[in-house]
Amino acid sequence: MKPRIIVIEDEAILRMDLKEILTDAGYEVIAEGDNGEKAIELAYQLNPDLMIMDIKMPKMDGLKASKIIKKQSKTPILMLTAFSQKEFVEEAKEANVLGYLVKPISEANLIPAVEIALSQAEKRAQYEDELLQKEQKMNARKQIERAKGVLMKVMKLNEQAAYEKMRKFSMKQQVSLERTAHAILKKYANDM
Ligand SMILES: [Mg+2]
Repeated sequence: MKPRIIVIEDEAILRMDLKEILTDAGYEVIAEGDNGEKAIELAYQLNPDLMIMDIKMPKMDGLKASKIIKKQSKTPILMLTAFSQKEFVEEAKEANVLGYLVKPISEANLIPAVEIALSQAEKRAQYEDELLQKEQKMNARKQIERAKGVLMKVMKLNEQAAYEKMRKFSMKQQVSLERTAHAILKKYANDM
């Protein structure tokens, strides 16, 4: 599937150029805009793979917009800037800005920057996914341990027997051990 990109740039000619370069390179430009407010709206509505956004724009600049976008979605952003500004680079780190390009923009500098931003965004998404899975596993383990403790107390079982009881119940009901744990914790919540 073609990566879906949104282009936000207030100079109409440059915006057209960007769109053409990206389309020729095999990307899909799904929307475009000329100010930060529009960028926020489009990022939220369309959830693109990448947003390419100018900094200096009317109504709302690109930096402010990218900070708001970060609060609402994971949209990665590649910034366009007229000069290399140190303070901007620092500020951009707080938002989801994965890179920036200094104008003038050409095919030669745009496409590699887009490729890098897309691959960084993918890596980041994978990492966040793994982190979430780890967290869920850890929570499940905690729940199971707690439920086992409850059973030991309520039914006066040793650890092994309590665990076996939960395991057998899960198999019989064809539910996960975590769900059984959850049910036990709910059932005995008032007794504890
Ligand atoms: Mg501008």
